[in-house]
Amino acid sequence: MTTSFYPPQRTLMGPGPSDVNPRVLAALSRPTIGHLDPEFIRMMDEIKQMLQSAFKTQSPLTMPISAPGSAGMEACFVNLVEPGDKVIVCQNGVFGGRMKENVERFGGIAIMVEDDWGKPVDPAKVEAAFAENDGIKLLAFVHAETSTGVLSDAKILCQIAQKYGALTIVDTVTSLGGSELDVDGWGIDAVYSGTQKCLSCPPGISPISFNKRAIEVIEKRESRTPSWFLDQKLVMGYWGGGAKRAYHHTAPVNALYAFHESLVMLEEEGLENAWARHRHHHNALRDGLEAMGIGFLVEEPYRLPQLNSVFVPEGIDEAEVRNRLLADYSLEIGAGLGALAGKVWRIGLMGAACNKKNVLFCLSALENTLSAMGANIATGKAIAAAEAVYNAA
Ligand SMILES: *Cc1c(COP(=O)(O)O)cnc(C)c1O
Repeated sequence: MTTSFYPPQRTLMGPGPSDVNPRVLAALSRPTIGHLDPEFIRMMDEIKQMLQSAFKTQSPLTMPISAPGSAGMEACFVNLVEPGDKVIVCQNGVFGGRMKENVERFGGIAIMVEDDWGKPVDPAKVEAAFAENDGIKLLAFVHAETSTGVLSDAKILCQIAQKYGALTIVDTVTSLGGSELDVDGWGIDAVYSGTQKCLSCPPGISPISFNKRAIEVIEKRESRTPSWFLDQKLVMGYWGGGAKRAYHHTAPVNALYAFHESLVMLEEEGLENAWARHRHHHNALRDGLEAMGIGFLVEEPYRLPQLNSVFVPEGIDEAEVRNRLLADYSLEIGAGLGALAGKVWRIGLMGAACNKKNVLFCLSALENTLSAMGANIATGKAIAAAEAVYNAA
């Protein structure tokens, strides 16, 4: 007979999912109620309000999609791209490539602006792409590229799009709750995120928001949105319908309790404080790793505090290190992707996982493992270097 599944207790310091706060896990197990129950609708309204604050937007078309971040991405593209539309897509890692896929699958023309993996999107190249191509409808880019640990300047990129009268689609899956994000202030037209990165919540939900300009474009579509499930005009009847909410699909009731709880926690902490917390623990991790002799892939001003891409020491099998960390410490860190596979690790400090205990734990587990494997690192210095950051605060 198959028995119940009990997952091991891990510390999740990879590219996501990250550790889920126990309060959020507790919320998941509360009794399921009907998704049109007045109490559930009241909770949905609270989610919308708290999500607007987290995104820093007033837009009423702000809601969680009942599917992971990739569905939020698809919701933005499927609603805004029509056949023949020209879209500038910035690619400096894995997720820009997926944006291109989305544009092309919905009949659009993707004009690529490429930057090396580990570098931010170059605004000068984006400006040049607008100057060289007429009639660009959209600019799409990733704010926080989780595949490399790079933050791009969303504010500047949106300004360029506005100058040329184009709308923006911005991936904030890893930035929401972890790095400064100001959807209305920067004029982002369509934005999507995820719950399992910096929001201390399990995967499976994708917060999205469309502003007035984006809604107008959606309403004026000539062709029918080729996805029924992600058609925002239909989803709005469910999330935006006030008291007369119409059935669209059955919301993942318990997953939304969890999301609600994670947003309550974000509100309690304060958005700016959450950003500062990610920065603070990143500084401690950085000083600890550097004291060990481990360097960063990304230059300082573009580094994501919540995702640290660091070089694997010479001659060390990076997968062996990750296997040992998992087996001996129940600690998960991420591997490099694409051309960076085998060369870097991706150490996440996201959401509930972003705390002092984890920083010190990760440093000591990594140091012990690497020295046992004979790596050329400096030992006995990392913890003191990290502690110095904490003691200075
Ligand atoms: C994780 C991630 C996604 C995809 O989210 P899923 O929930 O895995 O579908 C998209 N973009 C970025 C930048 C991410 O980090």
